Amino acid sequence: MAASIGRMGPRVLVVEDETSISEPLASHLAREGFEPEVAGTLAAAREAIGRGEPEVILLDVMLPDGDGRDLCRDVRAHSDVPIVMLTARGEEVDRIVGLELGADDYVVKPFSAGELVARIRAIQRRGRVAGSRRAPITIGALVLDPASRSVTKDGAPIELAAKEFDLLRMLMSRAGEVVGREEIMDEVWDPHWFGPTKTLDVHISWLRKKIEDEPSSPRYITTVRGVGFRFAAPSP
Ligand code: CA
Repeated sequence: MAASIGRMGPRVLVVEDETSISEPLASHLAREGFEPEVAGTLAAAREAIGRGEPEVILLDVMLPDGDGRDLCRDVRAHSDVPIVMLTARGEEVDRIVGLELGADDYVVKPFSAGELVARIRAIQRRGRVAGSRRAPITIGALVLDPASRSVTKDGAPIELAAKEFDLLRMLMSRAGEVVGREEIMDEVWDPHWFGPTKTLDVHISWLRKKIEDEPSSPRYITTVRGVGFRFAAPSP
């Protein structure tokens, strides 16, 4: 593992034990202006993160000393650093679980380094856009504060995964409007996302369980059949 001292570009931690994947990927990232650092084990990854938080983490699932999803969960408990899971073909469950754990995106092996860099840049763009809208939003009993990434209901904190928060922020920032499914997927996930229906519906269902009084008859997030979702307009 190459430690990185001089800061060249955004530091990207590549957690991947297969050197046939990590070495060409690191070379490509370096050519694209990133500062890649490769960790072949969970222990090496934790050590690298301990030396300073990377700007992006690319995270394999199956590692010699454990499961990448454990690291994803641990990192997400204290940080919003973007995480892209590197998954094997057929890990359908892992995709959802990865997102539930707070991963920002995933790619399926074999992926092209160019595709992965495009994903990283999309995540960075979303972060900048999100950072520019920082005024708290209050609707009904809910208050969403983009600056602290916190949500309260009647003053009590609600724990949300990263994607749940991003989804809720988008819907609340457009309260009263019908927001199309494609538009939600483009902004909250990625324009290249495939299989949007299940992922979006799963996240909407999780959100309803957390914010609605009666998740089965939602007051805040209503489904507009065949189109998308509408967040309740604030009371006049
Ligand atoms: Ca592996």
